[in-house]
Amino acid sequence: MSNGQLTLLAVHAHPDDEATGTGGVLARYAAEGVRTVLVTCTDGRCGDAPGGVKPGEPGHDPEAVAASRLAELAASCAILGVTDLEVLGYPDSGMAGWSTNDVPGSFWTTPVVDAAARLAELMNHYRPDVVVTYDPNGFYGHPDHIQAHRITMSALEQTGSAAKVYWTTIPHSTMRKFGEMAREAGMEMPDEPPSDVPEIGLPDDQITTWVDVTAFADRKFAALGAHASQEETMPFLSMGVERFAEVMGVETFVRVDDGVDTAVRETDLFAGLR
Ligand SMILES: [Zn+2]
Repeated sequence: MSNGQLTLLAVHAHPDDEATGTGGVLARYAAEGVRTVLVTCTDGRCGDAPGGVKPGEPGHDPEAVAASRLAELAASCAILGVTDLEVLGYPDSGMAGWSTNDVPGSFWTTPVVDAAARLAELMNHYRPDVVVTYDPNGFYGHPDHIQAHRITMSALEQTGSAAKVYWTTIPHSTMRKFGEMAREAGMEMPDEPPSDVPEIGLPDDQITTWVDVTAFADRKFAALGAHASQEETMPFLSMGVERFAEVMGVETFVRVDDGVDTAVRETDLFAGLR
């Protein structure tokens, strides 16, 4: 039982990931007086330039994209009430298979132990009670997400942190709902995911932690809106805030074995700590 202020530390790969995966818990816990620390590992330079211009296309200036995405990140954090933003600033490695993966200095080419040492310093400074990041596949296989997972697990080990540790995930029932909505919206969607691609997310009964963030769905929606330059936010923003709240009103996590004695199914990342 902690007498001081509780601290949540979330480690994300790119500007905008904080809103997609954890916007609800960041906003909810900040409103409850929890210190919310966001560590964003990369500068997002491989994202879209204004007008949806992709990396490598004429008019895509990686430095300018990074600068505008960091401004969007600051705006998103202000909306979510994030108390402390820490940007590690590694060059975005781009999607799996892109040549930017191998650019010297990119997040993906940075030795895990080096980036983890920087994160460990932040963990020693903030002493988080709860740490959130991605699963070993980075949720969907993006190199920077995989690297964020690796440096987080390494930093936890280096610091001997006793924090409860969570990986973000999405229940298969919600993935099916997304598919239905996309079909309703006229998008071509396969009935079954291709069998050679691992299914994203987890079966519902393997998810330990379901946090109701319905009351903060409008904040999460607005935080995603701060990243509207990125095409990947469009499927969410096009839902409108009410539909978005229905689909995205619960954020789900898998708790990593940590010795904290709480029920297997939780509704609070801080269960057992307050
Ligand atoms: Zn990302």
